[in-house]
Amino acid sequence: MRLHEIPRYPLTFGPSPVHHLRRLSDHLGGAQVWAKREDVNSGLAFGGNKMRKLEYIVPDVLASGADTLVSIGGYQSNHTRQVAAVAAHLGLGCRLVQERWVPWEDPVNDRVGNILLSRMMGADSRLDDSGFDIGIRDSWKEALREVEEAGGTPYAIPAGASEHPLGGVGFANWAFEVAEQEKALGVTFDTVVVCTVTCSTHAGMVAGFAALEDLTGVRRRIIGIDASATLERTREQLERIARHTAEVIGLGRDLREDELTLLPDWAGELYGIPVDSTMEAMRLGAELEAMITDPVYEGKSLAGLVDLVRSGDIPRDSTVLYAHLGGQPALNAYHSLWS
Ligand SMILES: *Cc1c(COP(=O)(O)O)cnc(C)c1O
Repeated sequence: MRLHEIPRYPLTFGPSPVHHLRRLSDHLGGAQVWAKREDVNSGLAFGGNKMRKLEYIVPDVLASGADTLVSIGGYQSNHTRQVAAVAAHLGLGCRLVQERWVPWEDPVNDRVGNILLSRMMGADSRLDDSGFDIGIRDSWKEALREVEEAGGTPYAIPAGASEHPLGGVGFANWAFEVAEQEKALGVTFDTVVVCTVTCSTHAGMVAGFAALEDLTGVRRRIIGIDASATLERTREQLERIARHTAEVIGLGRDLREDELTLLPDWAGELYGIPVDSTMEAMRLGAELEAMITDPVYEGKSLAGLVDLVRSGDIPRDSTVLYAHLGGQPALNAYHSLWS
């Protein structure tokens, strides 16, 4: 397997914790629900899922001789905060384009939470009025050009690190980490639930679990819960990055349709705006497990899990793993949901 030969620069503490959500499982009265916690995976500025992707991108950054990381996201992007953290950790500069991806009119939306942390870590974080788009942006190309014109050597990291050729590798490896933890814990997760927006998290898992299935014969359901609210665009990006990552890790076969599941029902109308199901899921996670989720990503994927377990779509005899990908710093900008 080529996966294990791809260079990895450690940014995480090691395997992220896996634990049983007993009170949530009892409350839902169906499958047993566990969580794997990417929200506590790193000592760098609260961590999160982008750390996994960046572990496989940093060796290429260092080989490139670049002195400035350039990336893009929304005002409350967790991704850009993690890029800023990695830049600080490596002693590199950081230029961030923060776009108006979410029409959330809170007066401190562009000042607290993730963007505050990025600025504290020394990133040059600038606001841009453009709206939501998971693809490659002009504003980001412009920032790359500016860094060059100022005499710097930029290294380009696209939104969510997803359109980077190595963007999916971190979560392909995550599948193998899960398999090791299953052995230690004596459980098998037949279902994994994950939030999907720029897609390399979910796509990487799909490639990794496909490789694991070919080695072990264990077939699982990997359920992506869309939080982009631009379903067709996201589905295309998911399939493309999953197939690319499968090739990068040496899967040696095409992916099947049943390996690429993306469900639309919990995204609401708009990226970054919570709906009733998001609010209920965030409340359940917090009140039953003190497991804090955010209204942009994890509240939506948890809402999907809650409904799929309640309805029996994920059967009672299942053991399901909820991939908690981080995102709590954005909550500061959403204080009005609770006040
Ligand atoms: C980026 C992010 C996601 C989505 O991951 P993608 O790889 O962009 O699909 C989910 N949850 C959190 C907290 C994130 O920061």
